[in-house]
Amino acid sequence: MKILTIHADFIEFAAKKKAFKAAEEGVTEEKHRVEECLVVFSAVEKRDESDTAAVLDLYLKNIEDIAGQVKATKIVLYPYAHLSSQLSAPAIAEGFLKEAEKKLAERKLGNGGNYTVVRAPFGWYKSFNISCKGHPLSELSREFSSEVSSGVQMAVAAVSTPSLKREYKDEPFEFVDKKLTIEEKTNLSGAFVLAVALKQLYPQAEIGSFGLHLDSAYCDVLNVKLHLDNFGKIEEQMRKIIAKKSVFIVSDEKPTAKLQQEIGRDVAGSVGDAAVYELEGVGLFSLYKEPFVKSVKEIEAFKLLNLSSAYWKNNSNNQQLTRLTLVAFPTAHELDSYLKKQQDAENRSHLKIGKEMGLFVVSELVGQGLPLLAPKGTIIKNEIVKFLWELHKDKGYQQVWTPHIAKDLLYKTSGHWDKFGDELFKVKGKSDDFIMKPMNCPHHMQIFDAFAFSYRDMPVRYFEPATIYRDEKSGQLIGLSRVRAITQDDGHLFCRLSQVTQEVETIVSIVHEFYRVLQMDTDYWVSFSVRGDDKSKYLGTDEMWKTAEAALEKAAVKMKLPYKRREGEAAFYGPKLDFMFKDALGREWQLATIQCDFNLPARFNLSFMNERSEKERPVVIHRAISGSLERFMSILIEQYAGKFPLWLSPVQVKLVTVTDRNVEFASEVMKKLRDADVRVELNDNAETIGKKVRDAQQDKVNYIVTIGDKECEKRTLAVRSRVGDVEFDVPVENFVAAVVEEMRLRKVK
Ligand SMILES: [Zn+2]
Repeated sequence: MKILTIHADFIEFAAKKKAFKAAEEGVTEEKHRVEECLVVFSAVEKRDESDTAAVLDLYLKNIEDIAGQVKATKIVLYPYAHLSSQLSAPAIAEGFLKEAEKKLAERKLGNGGNYTVVRAPFGWYKSFNISCKGHPLSELSREFSSEVSSGVQMAVAAVSTPSLKREYKDEPFEFVDKKLTIEEKTNLSGAFVLAVALKQLYPQAEIGSFGLHLDSAYCDVLNVKLHLDNFGKIEEQMRKIIAKKSVFIVSDEKPTAKLQQEIGRDVAGSVGDAAVYELEGVGLFSLYKEPFVKSVKEIEAFKLLNLSSAYWKNNSNNQQLTRLTLVAFPTAHELDSYLKKQQDAENRSHLKIGKEMGLFVVSELVGQGLPLLAPKGTIIKNEIVKFLWELHKDKGYQQVWTPHIAKDLLYKTSGHWDKFGDELFKVKGKSDDFIMKPMNCPHHMQIFDAFAFSYRDMPVRYFEPATIYRDEKSGQLIGLSRVRAITQDDGHLFCRLSQVTQEVETIVSIVHEFYRVLQMDTDYWVSFSVRGDDKSKYLGTDEMWKTAEAALEKAAVKMKLPYKRREGEAAFYGPKLDFMFKDALGREWQLATIQCDFNLPARFNLSFMNERSEKERPVVIHRAISGSLERFMSILIEQYAGKFPLWLSPVQVKLVTVTDRNVEFASEVMKKLRDADVRVELNDNAETIGKKVRDAQQDKVNYIVTIGDKECEKRTLAVRSRVGDVEFDVPVENFVAAVVEEMRLRKVK
């Protein structure tokens, strides 16, 4: 935005002719004259479009600032295209100036009066005559944008998100300057042996990079087509190499192959001369310090795990390489236990269990990454949401609902348009362009903005488990864990800076209770992300950051969170707490999150009235307890291996009859359980009791209740728990009461 202000004795202007077709309507050619005024020649620019709310705020503040200095109370807003060669779309500029006219007229002067605001028509050729006062402040020009902090109160102006554009750039190879564990060294040594085996079997093959990923290692290769069928042969060759008991040596020779030379250049740039290691005549640049065990004989066991593809320098515009992943161990026993753990993970896989238990469906017609919850999966999701709401309802939260699409302008204003780029799903309407919402936050901001809240209303807390849509790459979509329709257990709080600690404590108590009930609270830690040294990368004033970081830390200390302070890990818009939980397989997941945000309230120009009847900007806290419900369900399925605690179980009780004579009593029992909201099924098929029990066990139901002649006669039940204990002669009422109580307490057995 560019402005030129003239403190004038008077200005006279008159509209003459439309400059273009879409010029402002309803304009007459009559002459206007304003005396003793500040004329603000204004040009709204292209770069302002993404953030008109913040720029408008700056525009008004600059005008007030100058008007205050020259003591002008009459303001003429004068559209003036010649100030810029990068003008915004006319409709946006016109709307901007009209809004400015309205807002400025509402502002209060020191004496309690108002500005007199006159706006010259937009998009017209105009004649004008101006008399400038000629004192030092009578002509000023200013340029500002949402990207330049203006130093105004709250310093909320810097709302650009420069680093968030989605681009595919080469990721340079970087040297890993840390001491490796013996496990890591063994894995890397295995990867080197693999590289040598590939060179020996396929001399035309070119080795790209090799490295560590999670608990395995990989080797990327070019110029060779490989299949899983080749694994036997490659492993055989690796065994031959290991049998030679060669040692890894530091080489004087630099590799000649192109890919390896490029790695060498990158690494040399960061650490000076990177070491080249040699094994069996093959030399490779290492990205790690002291990367290998002494001799290949220390690799007693290894296994090639899989074959995938990887892009050179992680950039999808680059060449695609074949990636082989492997694990290597000093003993065969360690490989065995690793493979056993993998098998356990596979058995617990939510894809496998989801299918066996009929929890969700993936339909080719609906599309990848858009799983459909079947009745049993829906029960689990609804139970989680119900529990979450129970934890919030007495803590001042209110439920809201927001539509799945919104005009693109909402997300241009919020900045998500730029942030999500080609991940946005676009929807063409008859007259407007919409997008499927990639975030719920902007919608909640609009609800807050529609009410004139006072400080007495703060904090305002909204709760909404709502689905957002992101066009993730199809290769990355898996079952429920990576999807395109993501239901967040979302919530936003609008509060004062001084209320952050209290609110965070409440959210932490909810997180604790939620994970305690699920028995996932025994092994977790919290990442406390704060600003780094380069303060220019972050929005908001020093004071806001210091206060918010202190508030989060205070809550973390008070709630005895096992937290680690991580400098420079904060989002550009505010500090945050991320909760990292471990599942039954020891995998770590970032689930709950609590994030302060100084950005969105500024972008949407949110405010409430404080004690001094001034507008005060709220801080927003984004919070999620389970994160994405789909991903959380996948974690729960694997955590419990499908054996859900009673309250989450799709089928809690299965009644099985011995003969047809027992069906009547069984139906009676079923009704009693249903009346108590127990999820019960009856199997009265003409099958043996043994088969019926086995089927029910496979369905992982919590209680299998057998009803034979003896039970009918005594009007009692034989109850089998999931671990196989059987209790006979249980009165029906006792069983119903026990099940209801176990559900109510959300016990995990
Ligand atoms: Zn949010």
